[in-house]
Amino acid sequence: MHKPDVLHPGDGVTRQTLLSEYFPAIAGTAGDTPVFILDSKSPGGCMLVLGGTHGDETAGYLAAVTLLENAKVQTGRVILIPRANASGFTHNVAQEAHPQRIVISTPHGARSFTVGARYTNPIHQWPDPQVYTHVASGQSLSGPETRNLNRSYPGRAEGTFTERIAFAITELIRKEKVDLAIDLHEAAPEYPVVNTIVAHERAMDLAAMVNMNLQAMDIPIGMEASPKNFHGLSHREWGDATSVLAILMESTSPGQGRLRGRTDAALITQGKDRFYVLASERHRLSVPYPESGWPLEMRVGRHVAAVNEFAKNLGDFAPDKTITMTGVPEYQAMLAQGVGAFLK
Ligand SMILES: [Zn+2]
Repeated sequence: MHKPDVLHPGDGVTRQTLLSEYFPAIAGTAGDTPVFILDSKSPGGCMLVLGGTHGDETAGYLAAVTLLENAKVQTGRVILIPRANASGFTHNVAQEAHPQRIVISTPHGARSFTVGARYTNPIHQWPDPQVYTHVASGQSLSGPETRNLNRSYPGRAEGTFTERIAFAITELIRKEKVDLAIDLHEAAPEYPVVNTIVAHERAMDLAAMVNMNLQAMDIPIGMEASPKNFHGLSHREWGDATSVLAILMESTSPGQGRLRGRTDAALITQGKDRFYVLASERHRLSVPYPESGWPLEMRVGRHVAAVNEFAKNLGDFAPDKTITMTGVPEYQAMLAQGVGAFLK
């Protein structure tokens, strides 16, 4: 699992670098990760999209990969980090029975993608404290959360391995003058914050517009305000530490919750689970769970469509921040053809 998946940047990528460009102290560590820049060279806004904050939230990772391999930018810039916590992809979660990888067929052959873990690998950051204190706020969480990238923002230059990755991402947002940053996740069907957009208060109007447009595209999705007193999260700390409009999105993950049945690659890709169907019938879940499940193309397609809507609508709120992209797969096409049809 220490060998990264091979990705195939599309023609829209104008520069590839590493996260350590923005914070050299992580160069040569397992926390460094590729950063892809799609620069139209035409003035406009800048959007950052993260996949792989949590390596076991496959739709977030593959949505960023789909953009990497397909999107072209005509106005403004788009920056993609598909494997935000690269260390999280070098192991998977103990006792969850997750597969180490999934295989997706494409018109050009099979592609393999790692199913990683929520946390930084303990061989890169050890031992965990009894209690993890988020230094900037004093907030206390359970010890292993010290290895959760999405509890480590805005990060610390002199902090832990994970806090340094967080710091590097915050530095990228500052140095690239990112206007809009989107962190792509998945969550279990029984978790209250699922199938939703979480927005920092300065991003709320934009998120509301995107939410309405997604409903009109037959993508029902919720919207929540980033809690002001819950620290370390991207949607809170990016917005507080910088001028960026900070967004986090959650799709419905079949493979993470406590009610699921057999856990294998098919659960990650096809998303069918009869126990979740039963739980849904008993109104125990935060989302509907049909027999047809939550297949990967639906979860990736929702994230990709939402990112595209955010880019399209940013210019309505700030005309000098317009971003225009082409080549982004349409939601209905992805539902019909699957994720693999859009991978190189
Ligand atoms: Zn997550």
